[in-house]
Amino acid sequence: MSKTVMEHAEASAVFNRDEPYVNWHDETLWFVRQKRDKSSKQLPEWEELREAASGIKHYVLAHLDELLISFEQKAKENGVQVHWAANAAEHNEIVLGLLKKHKIDKMVKSKSMLTEECHMNEFLSKNGIEVIDTDLGERIVQLRNEPPSHIVLPAIHLKKKDIGDLFHEHLGTDAGATDPQYLTEAARQHLRDKFLTRRAALTGVNFAVAETGGFVVSTNEGNADMGAHLADIHIACMGFEKIIPKQEHLGVFLRLLARSATGQPITTYSSHFKKPREGQEMHIVIVDNGRSTQLGRKDFRNSLKCIRCGACMNTCPVYRRSGGHSYHNAVAGPIGSILAPNLDMTKNADLPFASTLCGSCSNVCPVKIDIHEQLYKWRQVLAKEGYVPKSKEIGIRAMSTVLAAPRFYQWSGRLGRTVMRAMPFMVNNALNPWYKQRDMPEPPKESFRDWYVRNRKN
Ligand code: SF4
Repeated sequence: MSKTVMEHAEASAVFNRDEPYVNWHDETLWFVRQKRDKSSKQLPEWEELREAASGIKHYVLAHLDELLISFEQKAKENGVQVHWAANAAEHNEIVLGLLKKHKIDKMVKSKSMLTEECHMNEFLSKNGIEVIDTDLGERIVQLRNEPPSHIVLPAIHLKKKDIGDLFHEHLGTDAGATDPQYLTEAARQHLRDKFLTRRAALTGVNFAVAETGGFVVSTNEGNADMGAHLADIHIACMGFEKIIPKQEHLGVFLRLLARSATGQPITTYSSHFKKPREGQEMHIVIVDNGRSTQLGRKDFRNSLKCIRCGACMNTCPVYRRSGGHSYHNAVAGPIGSILAPNLDMTKNADLPFASTLCGSCSNVCPVKIDIHEQLYKWRQVLAKEGYVPKSKEIGIRAMSTVLAAPRFYQWSGRLGRTVMRAMPFMVNNALNPWYKQRDMPEPPKESFRDWYVRNRKN
């Protein structure tokens, strides 16, 4: 098994070198989680909404074929051109083909995690197309030449000073300026010119409605609308799980999405697209890229219910203290750790282990995905199929032998306590990953079992 990326634990260790920064990152995301809590508690029917959303998505996953075909048919009737992509390469080729056909070499793009998943920007750039991300957070990470660290808040890992320095270098703002209003205004002016001069705009899709062939794109900045309304060609790219059956279902999902993502009652712009305006071309690219495989995995198919709100990341103690980039995958955090092994088990076998399995992710998920249970199941699949490192496998085998034999377990416990007392250096050393960041506990005088036997006799 060969890996080309740094494992999550190693990347997290790098992230953790600066403790005050990690504390700040942790608190910032927790603040977003708290906003979600307050906002959701204002809706007495919150749990019913979650149940309804989960049920609708359950129906979607069982009727994907019909719903997607109905969506295609309606979209075509509305004058939209529909394309199907089996994988990331096909998706990228379709987008490139459309741009080449119209001799376009510059495009604006609003937030789309699918295009991150397909590494579209790099592909288009190699083929001579300049893509400008217009979501402020996405533009910031693009200028830094790095991927987003969060699916909703792409630049959440950066402080005001980092952004001030970046804008000073790329946009010519005053050196040392950190005022958010000043920096945002500079970004606005910079992007305005791009919007006005680009003939093509790419957007993501939050929800595609099978009943009408229309789709909804949610942004807080209105950048998807600016791009799509000014361009001659609007290309909207969606993973096939974005489909919902009916227009009336939007009310359920839009209420859940904004509150779960940022604690807002509604996203600032929920734009409904249905047909191209006169003289414009509108294209929809529907992408599989491993989703059919995930749909066929009984234990993991529910992960396709995800509406990409990011709430599971904001609440996850591991994500908050390891940062999005440590997940080396377009979608980070708990849900990313379920989706990533499906795409590449060799590269992503470490990710389901980046969890405490505390279950907080499942508790906040607006579509009630059993996230922590799926993470636990992935561990079993990966171990069975030989994707975990030998050292971990040996450790797990040894532990299962000990736990399966009560006498051996008691003897091992006694031995462990004796060693910790008599030769603490045997456990308090750099070879022990636990000791690297934590103190080892004081060994108790006796085990609980010994105490229980003694006291029961008394
Ligand atoms: S898994 Fe649930 S909580 Fe996480 S991003 Fe998806 S919808 Fe949101």
